[in-house]
Amino acid sequence: MKSRAFQPTSDEVAAHARALRARHPRLVSIRTLARTAGGRPILGVIVTDPDACSSGQQHVLVTAGQHGNEESSRLVALALLDWLVSPAAAETRRSQRIVVLPNVNPDGAEADSHGNAAGLEPNLDHAPGGAQTPEGRAVEIAAEREQPELYVDLHACGHAGCSHDMVLYPWTLNYAEDDNLCHAIAADMLAAGERAGVPARLCPPLPGRYSGAPGRPVYPFLIRNRAGQGVSYYLAGTFFELYRQFGITHYRHLVRHLVLRHARPLVELVGAPESVEFPVRRSGETGPLLIHLVNYTGGMTRPIETIVPLRGLSLKINAPVKSARALVAGRRLVADRNGRIGLPDIREFEVIALTTTGMKPA
Ligand SMILES: [Zn+2]
Repeated sequence: MKSRAFQPTSDEVAAHARALRARHPRLVSIRTLARTAGGRPILGVIVTDPDACSSGQQHVLVTAGQHGNEESSRLVALALLDWLVSPAAAETRRSQRIVVLPNVNPDGAEADSHGNAAGLEPNLDHAPGGAQTPEGRAVEIAAEREQPELYVDLHACGHAGCSHDMVLYPWTLNYAEDDNLCHAIAADMLAAGERAGVPARLCPPLPGRYSGAPGRPVYPFLIRNRAGQGVSYYLAGTFFELYRQFGITHYRHLVRHLVLRHARPLVELVGAPESVEFPVRRSGETGPLLIHLVNYTGGMTRPIETIVPLRGLSLKINAPVKSARALVAGRRLVADRNGRIGLPDIREFEVIALTTTGMKPA
């Protein structure tokens, strides 16, 4: 399954850009450069320091998403914009005027297609007579206006989808004929991936550049066996090595789902985003449970400046509840007949002291 976080839609890209402008109105401005056949705007996001001397500035143009199915190029463009408005980029904003087109081909992005609505590739649409597509035209308008000294065009490794871009496939192997050169390229790609902290694995050569992810491996990734009354799972090969090395969150979710399939936890947190940490501790051997809720939910910019308070969360307790108390809010909580306890609004943190039958009261 593809992860939504890795493939921003056209609406999400535009919303992200507009949120940056709202948050940093002095640093960020947005122009609609053209509209696609589908009526979607092609946005140019300009970041610079308005107090800098404009005549001394270098002009940089960055385009992403010319190929709609290369999702991670859009993601990289948004990450670049996030960095450009951060304090760390103050010197860059002084010395440069940067124009980012984070989604040149929004129709292609929505259709998950390489080309635009007419099937044309914007990056090949720069004939001497001028671009024929609105997408190609948008890039030309930005280039004509900005006269950039540096132009960067972001692409990704093709139709496999961005979640697969986490693995660098050395598809170049299919095109280079010299074996030694192939191995040198593959080794360079692996080293670059490791330096960048990207999970990098050498895969067998693919049949073509846009062939998608390699097919079913010979050995299954996950094996489920019955063992007496229970079930055992075997996760093959490099699962835990990869998790230790790269901390891939999907792996953590997978293990969590496997556990939850078979074991019902005493306490479940309902309605919370992933940004809430939820450790459950017991006070002494038989004392009450102390359920900690730590809220790391912030806006899109990093570092997080303000915490977004959370409303409407609840706990589901899979045992008869004797008493529950929110220690920060300072009030008693009541469980309904299904063991559900509505929680008070949570700002940075809350601690719930809970006793069920068989525990000593708090
Ligand atoms: Zn491309």
